[in-house]
Order: sequence, then structure tokens, then C-alpha cells
Amino acid sequence: MESEVRSYCRSFEKVFHKAKNAKLWDIEGREYIDFFAGAGALNYGHNNPAIRTRLVDYLLEDGVTHSLDMATKAKEMFLKRFTLSILKPRGLDYKIMFPGPTGTNSVESAMKIARKVTGRRNIVCFTNAFHGMSLGSLAATGNAFKRKGAGVDLPNTNFMPYDGYFGEGINTVDMMEKYLDDPGSGFDLPAAIILETVQGEGGLNAASPAWLKRVQELCLKRDILLIVDDVQMGCGRTGTFFSFEEAGINPDIVCLSKSIGGYGLPMALTLIKPEYDLWHPGEHNGTFRGNNLAFVAAAEALSYWEDGAFEKELAGKASRIEEALSQLLKEHPEVKAYRKGKGLIQGISFDPPQLAGQLSAVAFKRGVIMETSGPHDEVAKLMPPLTIESSVLEKGLAILKESFEEIVQSERIGALV
Ligand code: PMP
Repeated sequence: MESEVRSYCRSFEKVFHKAKNAKLWDIEGREYIDFFAGAGALNYGHNNPAIRTRLVDYLLEDGVTHSLDMATKAKEMFLKRFTLSILKPRGLDYKIMFPGPTGTNSVESAMKIARKVTGRRNIVCFTNAFHGMSLGSLAATGNAFKRKGAGVDLPNTNFMPYDGYFGEGINTVDMMEKYLDDPGSGFDLPAAIILETVQGEGGLNAASPAWLKRVQELCLKRDILLIVDDVQMGCGRTGTFFSFEEAGINPDIVCLSKSIGGYGLPMALTLIKPEYDLWHPGEHNGTFRGNNLAFVAAAEALSYWEDGAFEKELAGKASRIEEALSQLLKEHPEVKAYRKGKGLIQGISFDPPQLAGQLSAVAFKRGVIMETSGPHDEVAKLMPPLTIESSVLEKGLAILKESFEEIVQSERIGALV
């Protein structure tokens, strides 16, 4: 019945029925450890009990579910809590826009407002970037296959090399500066630069804090707006609520979605510095900007960030993953592979690339769900819920190790044959 466009259900050919934190069960009752977490939409796990209680209570008291962008108690609660628990402690001052419930909605609105504010058209984006599937976001997305799907031109963006694109010796901000300042470069002054601090779909490329700082300086000097697309890396994926906290930058616009809805419920935010919030009422509109169940879940999810305990826990889990992957690679120097990523989004990049898909397939047979990413699908990526229990994390890492050894073994056998 379902369209040919379906994708994840082709990699994970089971019918799933139940889920709890970092585990899923199929209809035959088989258990899986979830190292995919809804592509980053389930940072607080499946069916988080504290969030679920809030949702059930809200439903039972006949709270408003859908409200366009009318004022509701649920929305007010979320706005206050987000401002008090997230923005204020970090010294950030943003107006909060609800652009429609998906990541690509947030990116579209960010690009529109940057163009409106500056009166310029071009947006600088980066090699291997992923920003979404609607035409504006797709124009800033690198992947050739996805771009071709548009069927039309994807104008008004300029791709620049991301940090590390040409290897270590070349600082790509120097290149960008040269292009921007050379009146002969043919490069128009852009409205904004949009970037992910770690490119999730693009293969777990992590920009260095120094590079991010330089990009911000470059923007400040030339009156270019800086947009951080934190749709996948935000809400704690890299270890802090916003992925740019370590770099100490202060973007003009921030895109959030996926886990901001707390419970896997569709929701997105576009955070805009007040001086750039030049929208006319309704100028960027949409029916599903008042998903009150998501507001209720999102407000409760923020309780994870109200003291430092969660961040500490994340740091511990991140270093455990780093250690396990490094150890595995050390034990198998014959495999051309290296560790990539940061925080609770790390993975192994393989040469030849198809080993990543093989690892994901073998891991699934053994009961771990993990995806691949990168331009050649060369990176096997681990992205568990941030709330994963340590024992489940250990079990998942052990299955990953067995799966890695199985593919290495079969590669060897393949080579002998
Ligand atoms: N930006 C980034 C960085 C993403 O990772 C994604 C989704 N993978 C999007 C935007 C698009 O989000 P959505 O699929 O909800 O439109």
C-alpha cells in the first residue's frame, strides 16, 4: 500500500509495536536496542514516563490539542520554561518563532528572515550539509541524489568547503574570506551563512570550535547573519543543549526541531535575535504551529536541563562510546576505518564504504538498530537516546563489537575466495 519512497523500513524489515526508552520490540516480541533514536527525534527515549504522565494528564483534562497559533496555557508554559531554563542561563536573547512542525520548516523560515533583514538573496552553505527536503532547504543541501529529486533549479545558495573538507592543512574560512573580499571572485555578499556544527547526515563531520569562531567573526565583520541549524545536533546530542555552546558563539538565528518536542511529537522553533525579528504577522504561516501536546511534552523535557546532572551524565556516556569505538578500531588495525563525531553521535567511517551498510545490517540481525550516513553511506552511526541506561548502552556496544568482528571475518573470507 505504501509508496516506493519509503526508506528506513527497507533497512529494518520488521514491524515494530512497542518501545521503552532505548529499546523497541517487534510484533513477534523480539527486542532491539535503538541506536538510531528516530534520527535524533527521541533524545529523551521512547515513551519517557515523566513526559507521558504530563501528556496523559493534559489529554484527560481536555486541554486544547490544536490551536493554530492562538494563545494557549500549554504554549505559555513552554515559552516561559524555555526562556527561563534554556535561554536565560546561557545569556541568550532570542524571540521564539513556531514555524511549522518540522526541521525543514525552521530552516525555510530562517533563510526567509535572513533574506528579508539583509535584502540579499544568497545564502552560503557547506559541502555535505543537510537542511531538509523542501526547495529552500534542499538548495542548501549537498547530497546530489536528494537535490535531483527537486526536479527544478535550486538557486540562491553558494556552497563552500566545510571545516576539514580539503584535509588538515587548509583552513576553509581563509578561502571563504578570500572569495568574499575579492571583487573579482564573482561571489555576491550573502544574506547569511547556514551551518551544522556537526554534519549528521553528511557523515558526522564535526567543525572545530576555532573554525566556528572564525566563521562568526567573518559574519560579524561583513554584516552577514549566522544561522546554526541545530535540528539534529541540538537538544543535547553533542553533550550540551545547543551544539554551539562549546565554541562560545552566539548565532543570529537557530533552528531547532526533532527532539525539542520531547516525546517524538512534531515541533520546531526558529530562534531569532530580537533586532532581526522583522516578520509581519502571518508572513510565514502554517496550520500546525500550535501542537499543544508537543508544547506540554517539550516543557517537561526541559527539566533535564534545569541542573547540571544530565550534562555530566552525557559526558560520561560520550566518553564511554569514544573509548569503545577506539578500542575496537585498535584491535583491528587491518580494517581501514576511523572514529568520527562527538558526544552521543559518534560512528565509524569505513573504506570501502559498503562496510558501514554491512555493519548496520549485521547489527540489526543481532538486535541493534543503527543507520549509515555520509555521501557514500560510509559512516555507521551510533545515536542512542541520551537517556539510555548504562547497561543497555554496554549491551549495544557489545553487539556492535560482535557485528564488527563478523563483517571483518566475512571480508577476510571473501578476500581468500
Ligand atoms: N536540518 C538538519 C541538520 C537535519 O538533520 C534535518 C533532518 N535530518 C533537517 C534539517 C530536516 O528536518 P525534517 O526532516 O524534520 O524536515
